[in-house]
Amino acid sequence: MKRRVGLMGGTFDPVHVGHLVAAERAIEAGGLDEVRFMPTFRPPHKSSRLGGTPEERREMVELAIQDNPRFRLETIELDRGGVSYAVETAAALSAREPDREFVWIVGGDMVLYLPQWHRIEDVAAQVTFLGLTRPGYPVAIEQLPPYLRTRVTLADMPALDVSSTDIRERRERGLSIRYVVTEPVRRYIEERGLYVHADEHR
Ligand code: ATP
Ligand code: MG
Repeated sequence: MKRRVGLMGGTFDPVHVGHLVAAERAIEAGGLDEVRFMPTFRPPHKSSRLGGTPEERREMVELAIQDNPRFRLETIELDRGGVSYAVETAAALSAREPDREFVWIVGGDMVLYLPQWHRIEDVAAQVTFLGLTRPGYPVAIEQLPPYLRTRVTLADMPALDVSSTDIRERRERGLSIRYVVTEPVRRYIEERGLYVHADEHR
């Protein structure tokens, strides 16, 4: 049987416990052998300014996943640069590793947005999707177009109402981010002064 590899794409600005718990649950729900955290270089749908550089976002992911043998870093989108389109990523991964089966993990807030992904039918031909429900974003498989229903599996996630946006805002307001990110990530953020005075920062 092919090794099943979960792909957890995101800006990870910064990576937080919501991402880590989601990846851990995805291993169980999707029968995955590993999950790769894959920072996007520049997500097509995100126009807001980013606090961390691609390098900083990658380093924070490395710090967050270092003690889990099933978690890996996937730099294919960072290495490629430019706008990160899933269709290119899926094609490149399938070509590089034909012996793997790729399962794209999407948060509950992203599942209904799948039909709008660039060339989604080509993406769905190469990978399947595992949708993890997220607080505030109820999803049913019937809400998806028929061509996606057989390619998407939904799984429940415990309610962890934490987001990178919230963490960046807490930093701007001088509030604690303890426990919503791992300790090494918290130290990295505080040592570098990330997300504080974000407007003047870069
Ligand atoms: P931002 O607030 O900047 O949008 P985010 O917290 O949503 O950041 P992303 O890097 O955009 O994090 O998300 C990467 C993936 O992780 C997406 O599929 C997203 O839906 C999922 N995700 C993010 N936060 C959670 C959470 N608390 N629980 C489950 N999934 C999550
Ligand atoms: Mg998001």
